[in-house]
Amino acid sequence: MVFGRKKRRDGALGSERAPEDMSVGYNPNRDDTLFWLTEEGYLIAQDVACQTEYVEATSCPSCGASLTVVAHLNRAGQGLSEIVTLCCGCRERYSFIFDISNTAYQTWWAGLLGPHYVQQFDGPPREPYCPAE
Ligand SMILES: [Zn+2]
Repeated sequence: MVFGRKKRRDGALGSERAPEDMSVGYNPNRDDTLFWLTEEGYLIAQDVACQTEYVEATSCPSCGASLTVVAHLNRAGQGLSEIVTLCCGCRERYSFIFDISNTAYQTWWAGLLGPHYVQQFDGPPREPYCPAE
């Protein structure tokens, strides 16, 4: 099963973080389109940390147990990042596919890498299309 069209409210995500968490992997310039869907159905990621935050805030649709990350697939050549998880209860496998081609992510990433930044995907950045609501 592939996530991406899941309906949820995540307004609290990101608002309870302690200052010490705002370090590597966290984009201080996240905006309101975090976790929106692209037209293709990918989840908008605006940094690395938000991807694990999203997984941690999601429970298994089948049994309600929490999910544990088993793999993080680098699909940067497609402007994507995929996190594979297993349900701690029923062992169902779920994949979360995040868009990292969007301007918010790439601007943040370029700021981290400075002169070492190279765009890894072809074409224009994907745009936030609709809230994952
Ligand atoms: Zn389950």
